[in-house]
Amino acid sequence: MKVDVTKIPEEGLDLRFTREGNAFSELVADSEEMDFSVRKVDVSCRVAKVREKIFIEGSLEALLDQQCCRCLEIAQVPVRTAFRYVLIPEGSQGSEILPAEFGVYREDRIDLDPLIYEQIVLQIPMKVLCMDDCKGLCPRCGVNLNVTKCDCLAESADERFLILKDWKIDNPSH
Ligand SMILES: [Zn+2]
Ligand SMILES: [Zn+2]
Repeated sequence: MKVDVTKIPEEGLDLRFTREGNAFSELVADSEEMDFSVRKVDVSCRVAKVREKIFIEGSLEALLDQQCCRCLEIAQVPVRTAFRYVLIPEGSQGSEILPAEFGVYREDRIDLDPLIYEQIVLQIPMKVLCMDDCKGLCPRCGVNLNVTKCDCLAESADERFLILKDWKIDNPSH
């Protein structure tokens, strides 16, 4: 989402837009192995200009695809956050020592996509579950226990039972 700085009216610009995940594909460096992808994001923000500084304030709601940490299936993760940025023209005074929420713009254009993407990345949960009671993968045979049943756990229960029985036999009653 690009905005022409020269066209921002004095009273500011209210923007509402939706971006599909592919809008951010070129922001991800090839070397980065991302364990999530953006499905879509709804953004609502206000862009205002005071002299050459651009003030951006808004919120976003995104839907991500991320791997469940137990069963490794893709889970849909909603995230939402509010954000705030101040952008100044590239090369203007102080632009080398900007804190994180500051940024620069060049050639009278600001691009909101990198800011939105940055905000989404900050909201990504460390561990995602596809559902609260995800049963995960069977540690023995590896099937997804949410969709398939295997006999591994039943077998190990039988083994325990057998050991118990043997123990009883080896230890005659007092
Ligand atoms: Zn899961
Ligand atoms: Zn199993």
